[in-house]
Amino acid sequence: MDYVKLINCMRCGMCLPHCPTYKETFLETASPRGRVALVRKFQEGELVDTDQFLEYVSLCLDCQACASACPCGVNAGELVAEFRCEKKAGQGLSIIENAILRQLVPHPDRLEAATAPLRLYQLSGLQKLVRSLGLLKMFPAALGRMEGLLPKLPGAPLRKTIDEVTPAQGTEKGTVGFFLGCVMSLIFSEASIATVELLSSLGYKVVTPKDQKCCGAPNMLGHDFEGVKQAARFNTDLFEGDAYDFIVTDCGGCGAELKKYGHHLDGEAKATAFSSKVRDISEILANEAGALKEKLKPLNLKVTYHDPCHIAHCQGIRSQPRALINLVPGIDFRELPEADACCGSAGTYNIEKPEMSDRVLARKLANVEKTGADYLVTSNPGCLLQLKKAMAEQLPQVKVIHLTELLQMSMNG
Ligand code: SF4
Ligand code: SF4
Repeated sequence: MDYVKLINCMRCGMCLPHCPTYKETFLETASPRGRVALVRKFQEGELVDTDQFLEYVSLCLDCQACASACPCGVNAGELVAEFRCEKKAGQGLSIIENAILRQLVPHPDRLEAATAPLRLYQLSGLQKLVRSLGLLKMFPAALGRMEGLLPKLPGAPLRKTIDEVTPAQGTEKGTVGFFLGCVMSLIFSEASIATVELLSSLGYKVVTPKDQKCCGAPNMLGHDFEGVKQAARFNTDLFEGDAYDFIVTDCGGCGAELKKYGHHLDGEAKATAFSSKVRDISEILANEAGALKEKLKPLNLKVTYHDPCHIAHCQGIRSQPRALINLVPGIDFRELPEADACCGSAGTYNIEKPEMSDRVLARKLANVEKTGADYLVTSNPGCLLQLKKAMAEQLPQVKVIHLTELLQMSMNG
């Protein structure tokens, strides 16, 4: 860990009102400033990693709202994640972590096979029965929460059914490599189908290599940095060369990770070149606003937008999604209060830290309700999972959709 990054904190406290866990607790140990101080004291040998210490740092959502607010460029979320990666490197992965992070996640075929029973669970009607009889209460708490998050799965993973090459419509403007995230393929395939359709309709040839692997974000969440580097090496090799003008993703978490490959691999030329070509779909579409506008038909909807942390804080993308929503004729756009505050999903945080996750989520729901919107748009699978479940249970009048689904809806009239 770079010690200089720790001492850059001048303890001004400007990050405090932006930190979701501090806003809920008002505890210094649950603030970015406090977390930086804790890690610094550990590095200086003045603190040891007791369970209490680890509890303090593990309460961080890694949402990086603190980094957006800090005038000194300190990123408390990233520093905490780096600290946890270093600790994990020293300890090694447990058998379960190894099974999930190394034997399952980087192997799309295994991942897809592992979700097949879930499809059967839904198709057989068993899920409906379990939910209607309230049997989820009998599951272990974490399993019950995971099941509760599971939306209706598509008939097949998109990676299996998508064409490897989708031709451009009209005059070809360029070629993009489509990075299809695992969760997008397995769960939110409709959104990725919309993404490819939009790109193709705007004149891009879309190439989706079928042998691409997970971006490494789950490894980062599991503090398995070696696993992240393995994913980075594989994907940079796969997309190497001049064939692609851009590498596009519609998954905020993937985009944030892919843009860091150069950093993860210590500035290696191939990885840096790869990262420089990565674009979130909203960046590409916003550049095509004129052409896109001509294709859009009116939608008389009240719409609000939740900024995924991985898009707003990690990639600095805020104006493009809003501009795209406002491009649709007839839409009544309502800005969401605290739009860039975390929704409490944060990878597996909503399973591991349910109490804090629920508190952070409750704030988001109250803000969504204030807008009076009937559609909540966002573009990260973690947020989609968390918010779809929460809206279905608590604000059923609000539908949650991906940005590209909204645009496709307008395009198709
Ligand atoms: S992390 Fe940044 S904003 Fe927060 S106290 Fe330190 S210098 Fe100030
Ligand atoms: S990453 Fe988020 S939760 Fe963690 S310290 Fe920063 S603002 Fe707080």
